[in-house]
Amino acid sequence: MDIDSENLSRLKSLLESGPKKIAVLSHTNPDGDALGSSLAWADFLRTFGHTVECIVPNRYPYFLEWMPGISGIRVFKDDKNGETAKFISECEIIFCLDFNCIARLEGLSEPILANKKAKFVLIDHHLNPPAEYDIAFSYPECSSTSLLVYNLIERLSGVSAITKEMGEALFVGIMTDTGNFSFSNLSAELFETVASLVRLGVDIPHIHSMVYNSFTADRVKLLGYALCKMETLKTNGIGVAYITLKESELRKFNFQQGDSEGFVNYPLTIKWLSMSVIFIETRNFIRISFRSRGDVDVSKFAKMYFEGGGHRNASGGKSFKSMPETVAYFRKCVEEFFNDPANLND
Ligand code: 5GP
Ligand code: MN
Repeated sequence: MDIDSENLSRLKSLLESGPKKIAVLSHTNPDGDALGSSLAWADFLRTFGHTVECIVPNRYPYFLEWMPGISGIRVFKDDKNGETAKFISECEIIFCLDFNCIARLEGLSEPILANKKAKFVLIDHHLNPPAEYDIAFSYPECSSTSLLVYNLIERLSGVSAITKEMGEALFVGIMTDTGNFSFSNLSAELFETVASLVRLGVDIPHIHSMVYNSFTADRVKLLGYALCKMETLKTNGIGVAYITLKESELRKFNFQQGDSEGFVNYPLTIKWLSMSVIFIETRNFIRISFRSRGDVDVSKFAKMYFEGGGHRNASGGKSFKSMPETVAYFRKCVEEFFNDPANLND
């Protein structure tokens, strides 16, 4: 990975200029890559003598609770006495990992934007980063932020600075963001990194099982239910599937945060499908996940129609309409999008 040397030396001098208060932030509904990259990066920063807190807007999924150091992560939504906001106001450096748009922090963006004195540093692999960072490590071609963090640590202090615990955290991010090594951007460098994590003692079958075989029976039943509800359509030769899950349906299966993680990928196992979408009703809006294969650009689709974005083949968005209205609007958008030659094979 070709990391900009000028940015690296600016980061190095920032980290070496005495102990500082630092926040390491990641996005709403933190996933394996958000948590893995943040935990490893925070551990690395602590070796410089800094006071570091990892902060996420809301809770992480229960099947990642085993990750080393995760109990030390501050969940902003659970912070009732304002301690986290106070810490943020005192921070001299704020790292933004695995997201680039401050709005993705939802309520946490308020105290972040109120801190005018901190240096903001971006470490991320999402498209279209805004220009508001003091230092930006933005690599959309990199398959995970965790892989980027590995490279940054290697360039700053060498591989010997990575402990087994940091390696485990990074492997969770690398594995989950590549769909267990099945999506695009599977570079030789990625596998070389994995090899070096194995040398550190990272036990791949164990971590795989902890992440993918740790669900409740209700979650597995909800998956079956969701897949039975799947609808498919074909527009201009492009196959699209979608699934809706209302709050009342989720309640029947004792839904816990993270339970629907990965559901959206299953319809793409159908040969003729190019795009899969899931609509999940939450208290205030409908959260949407988009996945696609090949040239179909769901980040463009999410941005155009659902106030979202992300990557070409994996994006998210929101709808503030009711479920039936959202689905009707979605079907119209699909028609429009795939009948526009500009959105095919570009
Ligand atoms: P997921 O469907 O797993 O929630 O998200 C898929 C990808 O899209 C992730 O990389 C995530 O960071 C990004 N993403 C999810 N929701 C949004 C959103 O509302 N805005 C933007 N810009 N990206 C999103
Ligand atoms: Mn990521």
